[in-house]
Amino acid sequence: MREILQYPDHRLTTAAWSVKTIDESVRQIVDEMREICIEHHALGLAAPQIGETKCIIVVKYGAEYVAIVNPELSRVWPKVIDHPERCLSVEHGQVVLSVKRHKIVVVTGLDENGKPVKYKAQEFYAYALQHEIDHLKGKLIVSG
Ligand SMILES: [Zn+2]
Repeated sequence: MREILQYPDHRLTTAAWSVKTIDESVRQIVDEMREICIEHHALGLAAPQIGETKCIIVVKYGAEYVAIVNPELSRVWPKVIDHPERCLSVEHGQVVLSVKRHKIVVVTGLDENGKPVKYKAQEFYAYALQHEIDHLKGKLIVSG
């Protein structure tokens, strides 16, 4: 299993590339990300955290880990709260930092088979989605 990159590794603070073709290599990355999430009981993971500078995230949604390729926050509700979060790439998830998050969001993208997906999420799930999408912009919880 690949190791999780740790801040301040520059690959974590670089914006990721959008995925042009969804193929077996993308599905392989997704499988690996799911395994890491299960292993670490994580709420989610972004591909740059395992050294893949691509717009791919995996987020816990209900009982499963869903993959979203090229995720976009297509709608956010204006209400913002300060949410305490950890990140597996910041001190191996041992520190908690407060981050401003929207309580409800809609995220669109593609699944690992290239099928369009849309998730409306609130609280817990909404924060995880925003956290992982931030990773794709090279933004970590240490940036506030
Ligand atoms: Zn993180």
